[in-house]
Amino acid sequence: MDCKLAVSLMHEYLDNDLPRQQQLELKSHLLQCVDCRNRFEELEKTDMLLYSLTHHPTGPSEELTDRIMGMLPKEKQPKPWITWVKNHPAITAAALFLVVMLFSTVSFWNQENQLIVKGSELDKLIIEGQTVIVPPDQTITGDITVENGEAQVFGEVLGNLTVIDGELFQASTAHISGQVKDIDKAMDWIWYKITNLFSDVAYR
Ligand SMILES: [Zn+2]
Repeated sequence: MDCKLAVSLMHEYLDNDLPRQQQLELKSHLLQCVDCRNRFEELEKTDMLLYSLTHHPTGPSEELTDRIMGMLPKEKQPKPWITWVKNHPAITAAALFLVVMLFSTVSFWNQENQLIVKGSELDKLIIEGQTVIVPPDQTITGDITVENGEAQVFGEVLGNLTVIDGELFQASTAHISGQVKDIDKAMDWIWYKITNLFSDVAYR
């Protein structure tokens, strides 16, 4: 097997549609060829990163996903931007670098961030360190926004509760009448940047 064929088989392998026989041939080439082995590791990392981004536990917000899906090319052919990525591994590697860079920027931001609490009845809340608590038997009539901290709700909130870049805990006694929003700014931003990057280049 030559390296060119090996590379195209790698892509198929990562897409899980490589027949078993060819998988074995690819593996035996990877054992012999250092270049292809390095390349495969790099592709695997890109694949895992893209997977973890699109399958992030909190996930991108629905509204954002809709906007992104609107921008992506419609699937007449099988996902053109994926084909594009396959044909341009160098730029994909550059994108991978960008992702890693963004992730390190994000962790830097998170270290800098301070707890911000907004609402009209802050005197009814208990704030301990980075944690904002709605005590049991307490009723908050307005909205609460917690940024860069953990919101723990034991009592009642009649308005909306928004948690930005933080955690939300709702006790079994909690009752929130308004909307509950959990926003991860950094993840949304990265998700937006990456899909934007791919959909942009796919049209060139
Ligand atoms: Zn090779």
